[in-house]
Amino acid sequence: MIQVNHVFHDYEGKGKFAVSDISFSVEGGSIFGFLGPSGAGKSTIQNIMTGLLPIQQGEVLYENRSVRELKTSFFNQIGVSFEQSNLYASLTGLENLKYYAALFSVPTLSPMELLDRVGLREDANKRVSHYSKGMKQRLTFARSLINKPKFLFLDEPTSGLDPKTAVGIRELILEQKARGAAVFLTTHSMELADVLSDTVAFLNGGVIAACDTPEALKRAYGKREVRVVYREDGKEHNRLIPMDDRAQLSEFLTAADVVKLHSQEATLEEIFLRVTGKELSA
Ligand code: ADP
Ligand code: MG
Repeated sequence: MIQVNHVFHDYEGKGKFAVSDISFSVEGGSIFGFLGPSGAGKSTIQNIMTGLLPIQQGEVLYENRSVRELKTSFFNQIGVSFEQSNLYASLTGLENLKYYAALFSVPTLSPMELLDRVGLREDANKRVSHYSKGMKQRLTFARSLINKPKFLFLDEPTSGLDPKTAVGIRELILEQKARGAAVFLTTHSMELADVLSDTVAFLNGGVIAACDTPEALKRAYGKREVRVVYREDGKEHNRLIPMDDRAQLSEFLTAADVVKLHSQEATLEEIFLRVTGKELSA
């Protein structure tokens, strides 16, 4: 389990906090989705959690041990996929993975099999300098899995990928959860967060505005409306009725020639807007 307790970060030391009082936990075998628009502070938190940025205030614990005390052997247990890929451009995709695998003192996955899983088998022997942005992103993602990390950090893993590739990546992320990894997923895609996350945190302006399961968020902020499709004068019509207005609902349903009923569930995107007053796709 990873615990983040009351973390603050001020890049310039001028009292302007990029993130403030951030607390949450990520259990093994679960995916924690960190959702927020550009500039919300998602990467800042990931960088603090992985030790790239020193902790100024608060605490990050891995199985009750502070990130401040973790030794280099800890890096055998984590996998990180950065938003900006940091690959060796003059090496091939395969060479990048082989080189990286050799840095670990734990068993690693086969580089070629990993390349295959992210759709890069054909390009394995091409230099990364000839890779497209999406290919580099897939290679970075594959690299983050090579040591079968117990703690996996994924910063925007599917942004800019075509839908088919994105589905493959989603499957791989779910496999990591299934083998027991604690997955911290940072994204501004509400759809990805909705599909994958066990828990979602909405980050806005450096603070967590809401944190719960996607289902609970939808229940709490959903519209609770029923859309009734009914027939009248030979045509289909729609009518929205509040779910809690039982009198209106039963009266209408009794009298109308009902074709279909839909419950109106809010999307995470709509809920984000309602909670924070901000659009996600900034
Ligand atoms: P996100 O990943 O959600 O897009 P970031 O964590 O990158 O957000 O940034 C959060 C805030 O911190 C932004 O206002 C950004 O401008 C600021 N910030 C990020 N990195 C630095 C830095 N190295 N120095 C100063 N400010 C930074
Ligand atoms: Mg970011």
